[in-house]
Amino acid sequence: MKYLFGPVPSRRLGISLGVDLVPHKVCSLNCVYCEVGKTDLLTLERKEYVPINDVLAELDEFLATKPNLDFITFSGQGEPTLNSGLGRVINHVKDHYPVYKVAVLSNGTLFWDRSLRREVMRADLILPDLDAVSQDIFLRINRPKAGLDNKKVIQGLKDLRAEFPGKILMEVFLVPGLNDSPEELQLIRSELLSIAPAIVQLNSLDRPGTEDGVKAMPRDSLLRIVDYFKPLKVEIIANPQSRKTIPSFNVSIEQQILDTITRRPSTDADLCQILSLHKNELNKYLSVLLENNRITAIEMERGTFFKIKQ
Ligand code: SF4
Repeated sequence: MKYLFGPVPSRRLGISLGVDLVPHKVCSLNCVYCEVGKTDLLTLERKEYVPINDVLAELDEFLATKPNLDFITFSGQGEPTLNSGLGRVINHVKDHYPVYKVAVLSNGTLFWDRSLRREVMRADLILPDLDAVSQDIFLRINRPKAGLDNKKVIQGLKDLRAEFPGKILMEVFLVPGLNDSPEELQLIRSELLSIAPAIVQLNSLDRPGTEDGVKAMPRDSLLRIVDYFKPLKVEIIANPQSRKTIPSFNVSIEQQILDTITRRPSTDADLCQILSLHKNELNKYLSVLLENNRITAIEMERGTFFKIKQ
Protein backbone atom coordinates (compact mmCIF):
# COMPACT_ATOMS: atom_id res chain seq x y z
CA MET A 1 0.00 0.00 0.00
CA LYS A 2 1.33 3.37 -0.97
CA TYR A 3 -0.88 5.76 0.96
CA LEU A 4 -2.04 3.68 3.95
CA PHE A 5 0.16 2.53 6.79
CA GLY A 6 -0.38 0.36 9.81
CA PRO A 7 -2.65 -0.20 11.57
CA VAL A 8 -0.17 1.21 14.07
CA PRO A 9 -0.26 1.26 17.86
CA SER A 10 -0.85 4.94 18.42
CA ARG A 11 -0.28 6.59 21.76
CA ARG A 12 -3.29 8.81 21.33
CA LEU A 13 -5.67 6.86 19.16
CA GLY A 14 -5.35 3.17 19.94
CA ILE A 15 -5.39 1.04 16.78
CA SER A 16 -5.03 3.56 14.01
CA LEU A 17 -4.94 3.10 10.26
CA GLY A 18 -2.76 5.93 8.94
CA VAL A 19 -3.52 7.71 5.68
CA ASP A 20 -0.74 9.75 4.08
CA LEU A 21 -2.08 12.62 2.00
CA VAL A 22 1.24 14.34 1.33
CA PRO A 23 4.59 12.87 0.27
CA HIS A 24 7.69 13.06 2.44
CA LYS A 25 8.00 15.81 3.40
CA VAL A 26 5.53 18.51 2.59
CA CYS A 27 4.57 20.73 5.51
CA SER A 28 3.73 24.30 6.45
CA LEU A 29 6.23 24.02 9.31
CA ASN A 30 9.73 22.66 9.85
CA CYS A 31 9.59 21.98 13.60
CA VAL A 32 12.85 21.53 15.47
CA TYR A 33 11.50 18.36 17.09
CA CYS A 34 10.06 16.73 13.96
CA GLU A 35 10.58 12.96 13.97
CA VAL A 36 9.80 12.67 10.29
CA GLY A 37 12.83 14.69 9.23
CA LYS A 38 13.52 18.02 7.62
CA THR A 39 10.74 19.64 5.56
CA ASP A 40 11.60 19.52 1.84
CA LEU A 41 8.65 21.56 0.61
CA LEU A 42 7.70 24.29 3.07
CA THR A 43 4.41 25.60 1.79
CA LEU A 44 0.95 26.96 2.57
CA GLU A 45 -0.47 25.93 -0.78
CA ARG A 46 -3.32 23.43 -0.67
CA LYS A 47 -3.42 21.07 -3.63
CA GLU A 48 -3.74 17.41 -4.52
CA TYR A 49 -0.22 16.35 -3.50
CA VAL A 50 -1.14 12.68 -3.91
CA PRO A 51 -3.92 11.46 -6.24
CA ILE A 52 -7.10 11.19 -4.20
CA ASN A 53 -8.62 8.54 -6.50
CA ASP A 54 -5.67 6.27 -5.70
CA VAL A 55 -6.05 6.90 -1.95
CA LEU A 56 -9.76 6.02 -2.17
CA ALA A 57 -8.98 2.83 -4.12
CA GLU A 58 -6.49 1.72 -1.44
CA LEU A 59 -8.95 2.53 1.33
CA ASP A 60 -11.72 0.54 -0.41
CA GLU A 61 -9.42 -2.44 -0.79
CA PHE A 62 -8.25 -2.36 2.81
CA LEU A 63 -11.60 -1.61 4.44
CA ALA A 64 -13.26 -4.44 2.48
CA THR A 65 -11.42 -6.76 4.91
CA LYS A 66 -13.44 -5.15 7.76
CA PRO A 67 -10.36 -4.49 9.96
CA ASN A 68 -10.73 -3.79 13.64
CA LEU A 69 -9.74 -0.13 14.03
CA ASP A 70 -10.20 2.59 16.60
CA PHE A 71 -9.55 5.34 14.06
CA ILE A 72 -8.73 6.07 10.45
CA THR A 73 -6.20 8.84 10.90
CA PHE A 74 -4.95 11.46 8.49
CA SER A 75 -1.37 12.00 9.55
CA GLY A 76 1.84 10.73 8.04
CA GLN A 77 4.88 12.37 6.63
CA GLY A 78 3.83 16.02 6.62
CA GLU A 79 0.73 18.19 7.05
CA PRO A 80 -2.40 16.35 5.81
CA THR A 81 -4.59 19.47 5.61
CA LEU A 82 -2.38 20.71 2.77
CA ASN A 83 -4.06 18.16 0.50
CA SER A 84 -7.06 19.86 -1.08
CA GLY A 85 -8.78 16.45 -1.37
CA LEU A 86 -8.89 15.86 2.40
CA GLY A 87 -12.63 16.60 2.56
CA ARG A 88 -13.33 14.16 -0.27
CA VAL A 89 -11.59 11.33 1.58
CA ILE A 90 -13.35 12.09 4.87
CA ASN A 91 -16.72 12.15 3.09
CA HIS A 92 -15.92 8.86 1.32
CA VAL A 93 -15.19 7.13 4.63
CA LYS A 94 -18.26 8.60 6.31
CA ASP A 95 -20.57 7.77 3.36
CA HIS A 96 -19.34 4.22 2.76
CA TYR A 97 -17.84 3.06 6.07
CA PRO A 98 -19.74 4.93 8.79
CA VAL A 99 -18.68 2.39 11.39
CA TYR A 100 -15.18 3.90 11.43
CA LYS A 101 -14.18 7.02 13.32
CA VAL A 102 -11.99 9.57 11.57
CA ALA A 103 -9.22 11.64 13.17
CA VAL A 104 -7.19 14.48 11.64
CA LEU A 105 -3.73 14.95 13.15
CA SER A 106 -2.72 18.43 12.14
CA ASN A 107 -0.22 21.11 13.00
CA GLY A 108 -3.23 23.44 13.11
CA THR A 109 -1.73 26.17 10.94
CA LEU A 110 -4.34 26.25 8.16
CA PHE A 111 -7.71 26.43 9.90
CA TRP A 112 -8.01 30.14 9.12
CA ASP A 113 -9.04 28.82 5.70
CA ARG A 114 -12.84 28.56 5.79
CA SER A 115 -12.96 25.91 3.05
CA LEU A 116 -10.64 23.65 5.06
CA ARG A 117 -12.86 24.09 8.14
CA ARG A 118 -15.85 23.00 6.04
CA GLU A 119 -13.95 19.96 4.74
CA VAL A 120 -13.18 18.57 8.19
CA MET A 121 -16.70 19.00 9.61
CA ARG A 122 -17.53 15.29 9.37
CA ALA A 123 -14.38 14.12 11.17
CA ASP A 124 -14.87 12.80 14.69
CA LEU A 125 -11.70 14.14 16.18
CA ILE A 126 -9.20 16.85 15.29
CA LEU A 127 -5.84 17.03 17.01
CA PRO A 128 -4.14 20.36 16.29
CA ASP A 129 -0.92 21.63 17.87
CA LEU A 130 -0.21 24.85 19.67
CA ASP A 131 3.43 25.07 20.75
CA ALA A 132 3.83 28.84 20.91
CA VAL A 133 1.84 32.04 20.99
CA SER A 134 4.58 34.68 20.58
CA GLN A 135 5.54 35.06 16.95
CA ASP A 136 9.28 34.90 17.77
CA ILE A 137 8.96 31.58 19.62
CA PHE A 138 6.65 30.24 16.89
CA LEU A 139 9.44 31.08 14.42
CA ARG A 140 12.08 29.37 16.55
CA ILE A 141 10.27 26.16 17.44
CA ASN A 142 7.99 25.60 14.44
CA ARG A 143 9.96 27.45 11.73
CA PRO A 144 6.88 28.14 9.54
CA LYS A 145 6.65 29.07 5.89
CA ALA A 146 7.60 32.73 5.64
CA GLY A 147 4.68 35.06 6.17
CA LEU A 148 2.60 32.78 8.38
CA ASP A 149 1.32 34.90 11.24
CA ASN A 150 0.68 33.04 14.48
CA LYS A 151 -2.17 35.36 15.46
CA LYS A 152 -4.00 34.30 12.30
CA VAL A 153 -3.24 30.64 13.08
CA ILE A 154 -4.66 30.94 16.59
CA GLN A 155 -7.76 32.75 15.36
CA GLY A 156 -8.25 29.86 12.91
CA LEU A 157 -8.17 27.43 15.83
CA LYS A 158 -10.78 29.49 17.66
CA ASP A 159 -13.00 29.53 14.57
CA LEU A 160 -12.57 25.79 14.21
CA ARG A 161 -13.58 25.32 17.83
CA ALA A 162 -16.69 27.44 17.34
CA GLU A 163 -17.84 25.58 14.22
CA PHE A 164 -16.65 21.99 14.59
CA PRO A 165 -19.22 19.63 16.16
CA GLY A 166 -16.69 16.88 16.98
CA LYS A 167 -14.01 16.68 19.63
CA ILE A 168 -10.79 18.72 19.64
CA LEU A 169 -7.69 17.56 21.46
CA MET A 170 -4.86 20.08 21.43
CA GLU A 171 -1.25 19.07 21.67
CA VAL A 172 1.50 21.24 23.11
CA PHE A 173 4.98 19.97 22.29
CA LEU A 174 7.39 21.25 24.91
CA VAL A 175 11.06 21.83 24.22
CA PRO A 176 13.13 22.94 27.24
CA GLY A 177 14.70 26.33 26.65
CA LEU A 178 12.40 27.16 23.75
CA ASN A 179 8.75 27.33 24.78
CA ASP A 180 8.80 26.63 28.52
CA SER A 181 9.47 30.12 29.90
CA PRO A 182 6.87 31.32 32.45
CA GLU A 183 5.83 34.09 30.03
CA GLU A 184 5.25 31.76 27.09
CA LEU A 185 3.48 29.16 29.22
CA GLN A 186 1.18 31.88 30.50
CA LEU A 187 0.33 32.94 26.93
CA ILE A 188 -0.23 29.34 25.85
CA ARG A 189 -2.46 28.69 28.85
CA SER A 190 -4.50 31.78 28.16
CA GLU A 191 -5.10 30.87 24.49
CA LEU A 192 -5.91 27.29 25.40
CA LEU A 193 -8.50 28.53 27.90
CA SER A 194 -10.05 30.59 25.19
CA ILE A 195 -10.02 27.77 22.60
CA ALA A 196 -11.31 25.35 25.28
CA PRO A 197 -10.40 21.97 23.72
CA ALA A 198 -11.79 18.82 25.32
CA ILE A 199 -8.30 17.81 26.42
CA VAL A 200 -4.80 19.29 26.23
CA GLN A 201 -2.03 16.77 25.68
CA LEU A 202 1.53 17.61 26.63
CA ASN A 203 4.15 15.99 24.50
CA SER A 204 7.93 15.96 24.59
CA LEU A 205 10.73 14.25 22.75
CA ASP A 206 10.69 10.51 23.27
CA ARG A 207 13.54 9.44 21.09
CA PRO A 208 16.77 10.96 19.82
CA GLY A 209 17.33 11.60 16.16
CA THR A 210 15.89 15.07 15.75
CA GLU A 211 17.99 18.21 15.92
CA ASP A 212 20.90 18.93 18.22
CA GLY A 213 19.93 20.81 21.34
CA VAL A 214 16.36 19.52 21.37
CA LYS A 215 15.95 17.72 24.66
CA ALA A 216 13.13 15.87 26.37
CA MET A 217 11.20 17.74 29.04
CA PRO A 218 11.75 16.06 32.43
CA ARG A 219 8.65 14.42 33.84
CA ASP A 220 8.54 16.59 36.98
CA SER A 221 8.47 19.72 34.78
CA LEU A 222 5.64 18.24 32.72
CA LEU A 223 3.73 17.50 35.92
CA ARG A 224 4.19 21.10 37.07
CA ILE A 225 2.78 22.34 33.76
CA VAL A 226 -0.21 19.99 34.08
CA ASP A 227 -0.90 21.70 37.38
CA TYR A 228 -0.32 25.19 36.05
CA PHE A 229 -2.71 24.68 33.11
CA LYS A 230 -5.65 23.90 35.42
CA PRO A 231 -8.65 24.13 35.10
CA LEU A 232 -7.91 22.80 31.62
CA LYS A 233 -8.06 19.04 31.41
CA VAL A 234 -4.45 18.12 30.71
CA GLU A 235 -2.69 14.83 30.23
CA ILE A 236 0.88 13.86 29.50
CA ILE A 237 0.88 11.68 26.44
CA ALA A 238 1.46 8.19 27.75
CA ASN A 239 4.85 6.71 28.12
CA PRO A 240 5.89 4.71 25.02
CA GLN A 241 5.80 1.60 27.18
CA SER A 242 2.01 1.77 27.12
CA ARG A 243 2.09 1.08 23.40
CA LYS A 244 2.97 -2.50 24.19
CA THR A 245 -0.47 -2.99 25.70
CA ILE A 246 -2.16 -1.93 22.46
CA PRO A 247 -3.34 -5.00 20.52
CA SER A 248 -1.71 -3.99 17.24
CA PHE A 249 1.77 -3.82 18.78
CA ASN A 250 3.51 -6.40 16.68
CA VAL A 251 6.28 -8.25 18.49
CA SER A 252 7.58 -9.73 15.28
CA ILE A 253 8.27 -6.23 13.91
CA GLU A 254 10.07 -5.42 17.15
CA GLN A 255 12.15 -8.58 16.73
CA GLN A 256 12.94 -7.77 13.10
CA ILE A 257 14.27 -4.36 14.17
CA LEU A 258 16.41 -5.99 16.86
CA ASP A 259 17.70 -8.64 14.43
CA THR A 260 18.61 -5.99 11.88
CA ILE A 261 20.53 -3.73 14.22
CA THR A 262 22.23 -6.69 15.90
CA ARG A 263 23.84 -7.37 12.53
CA ARG A 264 24.62 -3.72 11.83
CA PRO A 265 23.76 -0.42 13.54
CA SER A 266 21.26 1.40 11.31
CA THR A 267 19.59 4.76 10.92
CA ASP A 268 15.82 5.05 10.89
CA ALA A 269 15.95 5.58 7.13
CA ASP A 270 17.93 2.31 6.76
CA LEU A 271 15.41 0.47 8.90
CA CYS A 272 12.45 1.82 6.95
CA GLN A 273 14.01 0.63 3.73
CA ILE A 274 15.22 -2.77 4.95
CA LEU A 275 11.98 -3.64 6.75
CA SER A 276 9.57 -1.80 4.41
CA LEU A 277 8.13 0.12 7.33
CA HIS A 278 6.58 3.54 7.29
CA LYS A 279 8.64 6.03 9.28
CA ASN A 280 5.78 6.75 11.67
CA GLU A 281 5.29 3.08 12.34
CA LEU A 282 9.02 2.53 12.89
CA ASN A 283 9.17 5.48 15.32
CA LYS A 284 6.64 3.83 17.62
CA TYR A 285 8.78 0.70 17.94
CA LEU A 286 12.05 2.62 18.36
CA SER A 287 10.48 4.60 21.22
CA VAL A 288 9.51 1.43 23.08
CA LEU A 289 12.94 -0.17 22.53
CA LEU A 290 14.75 2.97 23.72
CA GLU A 291 12.46 3.29 26.72
CA ASN A 292 13.17 -0.33 27.65
CA ASN A 293 16.93 0.23 27.31
CA ARG A 294 17.19 -2.48 24.68
CA ILE A 295 18.74 -0.21 22.09
CA THR A 296 20.74 2.97 22.14
CA ALA A 297 21.11 5.89 19.74
CA ILE A 298 24.47 7.26 18.67
CA GLU A 299 25.10 10.39 16.60
CA MET A 300 27.36 9.86 13.61
CA GLU A 301 28.14 11.79 10.48
CA ARG A 302 25.35 10.14 8.47
CA GLY A 303 22.77 10.74 11.21
CA THR A 304 21.49 8.93 14.30
CA PHE A 305 22.28 5.23 14.38
CA PHE A 306 20.42 2.73 16.52
CA LYS A 307 22.34 -0.19 17.97
CA ILE A 308 21.79 -2.93 20.52
CA LYS A 309 22.50 -1.85 24.07
CA GLN A 310 25.29 -4.00 25.51
S1 SF4 B 1 4.12 20.02 11.79
FE1 SF4 B 1 4.48 17.90 12.20
S2 SF4 B 1 5.27 17.06 10.25
FE2 SF4 B 1 5.38 19.30 10.09
S3 SF4 B 1 7.47 19.76 10.77
FE3 SF4 B 1 6.16 19.93 12.56
S4 SF4 B 1 6.27 17.92 13.56
FE4 SF4 B 1 7.03 17.67 11.45
